[in-house]
Amino acid sequence: MEEEKKKIKKPRGIPRLIQGKCIACGARCQSACPKDAVEMNDKGEPIIDLAKCIICQKCIKVCPADAIELYFTPEQLKILAEIEAQSKASGTPVAEAEAEADSEEAKIAAKLKEYKGVWVFVEQTGGKPASVAWELLGVGANLAKILNVDLCAVVIGDNVENLCQEAFAYGASKAYVMDTPVFHHYRTEAYYKAICHLVNMYKPEILLIGATGLGRDLAGAVATELKTGLTADCTGLAIDDKRFLLQTRPAFGGNIMATIVTEKTRPQMSTVRPHVMPLPEKDATRKGEIIRESMTLSEDSIITKVLEVIDTHKPGAQEVDVAEADIIVSGGRGLLARENFHILQELADELGGVVGCSRSAVDASWMPVERQVGQTGKTVRPKIYLACGISGAIQHLVGMQDSDVIIAINRDPNAPIFEVATYGIVGDLFKIVPEITRQIKDLRSKKVN
Ligand SMILES: Cc1cc2nc3c(=O)[nH]c(=O)nc-3n(C[C@H](O)[C@H](O)[C@H](O)COP(=O)(O)OP(=O)(O)OC[C@H]3O[C@@H](n4cnc5c(N)ncnc54)[C@H](O)[C@@H]3O)c2cc1C
Repeated sequence: MEEEKKKIKKPRGIPRLIQGKCIACGARCQSACPKDAVEMNDKGEPIIDLAKCIICQKCIKVCPADAIELYFTPEQLKILAEIEAQSKASGTPVAEAEAEADSEEAKIAAKLKEYKGVWVFVEQTGGKPASVAWELLGVGANLAKILNVDLCAVVIGDNVENLCQEAFAYGASKAYVMDTPVFHHYRTEAYYKAICHLVNMYKPEILLIGATGLGRDLAGAVATELKTGLTADCTGLAIDDKRFLLQTRPAFGGNIMATIVTEKTRPQMSTVRPHVMPLPEKDATRKGEIIRESMTLSEDSIITKVLEVIDTHKPGAQEVDVAEADIIVSGGRGLLARENFHILQELADELGGVVGCSRSAVDASWMPVERQVGQTGKTVRPKIYLACGISGAIQHLVGMQDSDVIIAINRDPNAPIFEVATYGIVGDLFKIVPEITRQIKDLRSKKVN
């Protein structure tokens, strides 16, 4: 009688951190763990609680630095070798269960592969495009190049086909357009249905939308309908070696930067605020392909009706948009009082710039919220940013650190603003700012004479 073969239980190993390899990416392993078995230490490295761990290996797969390994003891390695030898002798597959798990992953991988291309939504109001769309084409071009796919614009509206040519000038090679009166005014329902229709037909892997009021509204609705991930207010976009879009944004009140990936669904959706990405060069001679699409969407089927559009901009009122200014003279808590902002205004007038501020100045009711620069204010990218009496908290820096030239005036030599400043002046702003204004006036009058 043939001796019955002893069935050996296959060891599963344990996830273990490889010392020195963790890059403190922002706790991706912790987010991936379905059992809350991963805690982070103060260096941003994982501590794995093996009592909770179910060895699903998600932390291993998600790690961008391959810093977590599946560890087997020498005894376990011996058992694995024995199983391998047995399976070879009998001709049966080593681990059917493993194959099953792999097939689930393979299904997802196959589905993701159907999606190709980087899309940028071209926001417009009354046919006037929002410049954030062109900024997104700039960053989108880099992503498309790495992925070796098309960069495409999505133009939706009424009488807006001319925007396709502008999108080509900013780098798109294709434009999907849905141009009909039902899209005359922006309405969430009509626009999200149009985008979902296009996405379901053409399957882009990445969809970028400007984080404007309209874009925020639209992106949420599209992501919900498509049941895919959306990362809002990204400040950095890149591609990793697995073709995942790395979406970086401030988290926990701006104190850390988190990098988020959409692993299992497509498209990967991100919004980016205006002026976060640089405007690419425009080349009006560039050409592209226009793909005209339509769908059944009658006016009657849309619940929201636009009865009247009221322009809230007061005629004649002096409007200041810090986000559009080339020169910004910004003030913070160091200004001490509302009335002191006049010294910044005088300097801004001399330079042909505008006055901005930190959140502390808004909280103290010294300045209106529209002038606030930073994470919860505007993102700016002027040629010159003068920070006067601003400490340089991270939430302020994320809104202005991409300015071409940063000049900081602060009496504290250790103020963090000096870390991003091109030129730093340590001293009392109440002496320095009026002196700069006086010297500019002097130079001007000498030039005139
Ligand atoms: C979720 C969240 C979102 C936020 N969003 C924003 C945002 O969008 N924008 C923003 O700005 N902040 C934001 N903040 C607040 C931010 O954390 C800081 O509190 C704020 O930026 C500090 O403003 P400040 O630099 O004007 O004031 P302080 O930090 O008090 O700095 C004042 C500076 O003035 C200097 N100073 C004082 N007197 C003089 C003088 N006579 N001459 C020269 N220098 C002088 C001091 O040395 C000091 O460095 C946010 C915070 C949170 C939690």
